[in-house]
Amino acid sequence: MTENFRSPDYIQRIDPYTAGKPISELAREKGIDPKNIVKLASNENPLGAPASALEAMRRAATAPEISLYPDGNAYELRAAIAKRCGVPMDWVIVGNGSDELMEITCEALVEPGTKTVYSQYYFSVYRIDTLANGGEPVEVPAKGFDIDLDAIASAVDEKTRVVFLTTPNNPTGQILTEAQVEAFLAKIPESVTVVIDEAYREFVPEDERLDSIGLVRRHPNVLTTRTFSKAYGLAGLRVGYGIAQPALIDFFNRIRPPFNCNALAQAAAAGCVADDAFLSRVYAMNREGVAQLQGCFAELGLEFLETKSNFVLVKIGEKAAELNQALLDQGIIIRPCRSFGLPEWIRVSVGTKEQNERFLGALAAFLGK
Ligand SMILES: *Cc1c(COP(=O)(O)O)cnc(C)c1O
Repeated sequence: MTENFRSPDYIQRIDPYTAGKPISELAREKGIDPKNIVKLASNENPLGAPASALEAMRRAATAPEISLYPDGNAYELRAAIAKRCGVPMDWVIVGNGSDELMEITCEALVEPGTKTVYSQYYFSVYRIDTLANGGEPVEVPAKGFDIDLDAIASAVDEKTRVVFLTTPNNPTGQILTEAQVEAFLAKIPESVTVVIDEAYREFVPEDERLDSIGLVRRHPNVLTTRTFSKAYGLAGLRVGYGIAQPALIDFFNRIRPPFNCNALAQAAAAGCVADDAFLSRVYAMNREGVAQLQGCFAELGLEFLETKSNFVLVKIGEKAAELNQALLDQGIIIRPCRSFGLPEWIRVSVGTKEQNERFLGALAAFLGK
């Protein structure tokens, strides 16, 4: 494979990340007008970006400073996040998407001879970032579809550097409770960093959200990561943040690329981080969409998981791959779940009412119902 250059063996073990198919790609492949394509594959926000973010970004784009390097310390954005979360600024790190924070975490903590641990049905970035640093990824079987925290705790040993917990989890949409996470953390040595990936936090009913900031206060080994890509509708800008106690954040800052978050992303994120009016609309619309999708899946007699997020995992059976092709032919992009180890399932992001209808109509027709 690598005839002309040398590389570490562990890099050769990495399978590239499979992203949702971009609309422009499907448009090119099938000659479909992009306007007629519905993408329900990457859990993006069907309401688009908030006006608060667009306004701030427009101002930044036309300011003379746009020709200068951005603030590498992202002062304004981190100040806005710190205020929002009720933590000091030196507890906040921003990334080029929260993906980058996983990458930085692994780069800072993982080396050959060490391990990371996470549940079956995981976000593939955890594995890629572990392997990229020569570590051994340990995937712990789920209990049914539930993350098995006891088994994860048992899998942690003196070689473990990082544990990844995802809540709500992707692709299952299920959450961990405060009591579960607190009991788990009591069993984990402080030398092991526990990343709580909360990319979908804003979609969880308020009374079921994790007090992850409280967990960070009580546990110096906890990092919570969040993103502007999902509920905030800014996936194209690539901006996310992490909160942990300063010792960990300081350590990460040693290897964080100097200008990892660009000026427009910083401005947009700072402009919308406290936009509760927008987030309420997103939340309400998402719950309606979940009810619409789940209601229809039930009518069609399909098995699905109750979701606390903005996507639903639904079982199609042996014809899942065929359904995926049929949907693509009609300009509908969903996420087949073979790469999650679930070849008979698909993951559908919640879209607008009309987008959901279009998908559901095509699904019913495929099933002959
Ligand atoms: C989408 C997603 C993210 C967010 O990635 P960004 O880099 O912030 O866009 C993180 N974790 C999980 C599990 C996700 O599904």
